[in-house]
Amino acid sequence: MNIKVNFSGRALSYTEEEIAVVVDAMRHAETLTQGKYLAAFQQKFSEFNGAPYSFATCNATCALEMTAQLCCFAPGDEVIVPLHTFTSSAYPFAKKGATLVWADIDLKTRVLTAETFQNAITPRTKAVVVVHLYGYLADMPAIMEVARKHNILVIEDACQAIGTDINGVKAGNFGDFGLFSFHSHKNMTTLGEGGMLTVHNEAYAKAIPMLRHNGHCAYTGERPDYWVPAMGNLDFPELEGEALWPNNYCLGEIECALGTKQLERIDAINQQKRTTALAFIDALADFPELEFQREDSTRHNYHLLAARMVAPQARRDDFIRRMFYEHGVKCVVQYYPLNRYPLYQRLGYGTANCPNADAFYDHMISFPFQHSLTEQEFAHMLDAAKTVLTAQREQDWK
Ligand SMILES: *Cc1c(COP(=O)(O)O)cnc(C)c1O
Repeated sequence: MNIKVNFSGRALSYTEEEIAVVVDAMRHAETLTQGKYLAAFQQKFSEFNGAPYSFATCNATCALEMTAQLCCFAPGDEVIVPLHTFTSSAYPFAKKGATLVWADIDLKTRVLTAETFQNAITPRTKAVVVVHLYGYLADMPAIMEVARKHNILVIEDACQAIGTDINGVKAGNFGDFGLFSFHSHKNMTTLGEGGMLTVHNEAYAKAIPMLRHNGHCAYTGERPDYWVPAMGNLDFPELEGEALWPNNYCLGEIECALGTKQLERIDAINQQKRTTALAFIDALADFPELEFQREDSTRHNYHLLAARMVAPQARRDDFIRRMFYEHGVKCVVQYYPLNRYPLYQRLGYGTANCPNADAFYDHMISFPFQHSLTEQEFAHMLDAAKTVLTAQREQDWK
């Protein structure tokens, strides 16, 4: 099989300048973790994204796990999670003691709405995870209105939506927690792994450094020598009197140096992806059987380019098969409804009443859409899609 356009595990090519920053940090960083590059990355991220407190982590999943700890769940507390998302939006909350409640998505925007959120609320709802999936910022003003009314904590999983905004307010700043990922697939990546947790609340910001780094803290008061009684102190991070188990979840200095540099061009990366996505969507406007989400504002960064085949599932499968075997274009199907996985079934979350999440998944097609896609690859993918869609019209799909 000659793959011409792969669904790559890597989204980005680094610039020579970015490579130089990494090499320089490798040569000159005095410590390789918990140093000046971390401080600079966090500060730059806060300036870029707007939250007063940003904390870099070794990936977004561990940042979600710390978020779950900061929610301080009591037994029976529920967390609403969309059924159509990546597993890390959900399991860290179950791991930290919450009961998961599946919420549906909107078929057109593929994300949670105020309505699907409202439908999942019970008297035990403590938090909701809003996932800006595919890079589309959900309707946060409406969602926040519902959340505030019911006193529900809001976690924005913005792992795919860095740099998106509604009226200038960037993803991650509407709710109580903002989560970002710099994994290899994402629009920016700190050498394959990396994450950021942002908060506005000072009490969270005070707890996170100890939560992230083994419970390390300073001694208070005067000490006769810097090694007495020990070099540093250890205690439990606390939130409103509740002691939390610490972790070791920091991001290394080299990754932070690269992240700081990449923030300089994330807007340009997003803009280029948006332009390319809109060109693809518009070029296929004569094929309404392939339904895209068209959003030409900065509310969407087109981390991914996904469509729904408005036709029987067999036709979707035929499309993907032909794209691959006849044209060498590797489309994929993403975000298996979480209740269908053994992991969630074994936890008792095997059933869900989320018809849109099921319907979308069963008809979705995700096109290769890494930033490093060349113009030739893009043109080939577009030609191939037109050819396959035209051929499919000759067939009877009933
Ligand atoms: C990538 C991703 C995560 C997890 O990010 P990691 O940095 O790989 O841990 C969580 N949620 C969503 C929606 C993601 O796309």
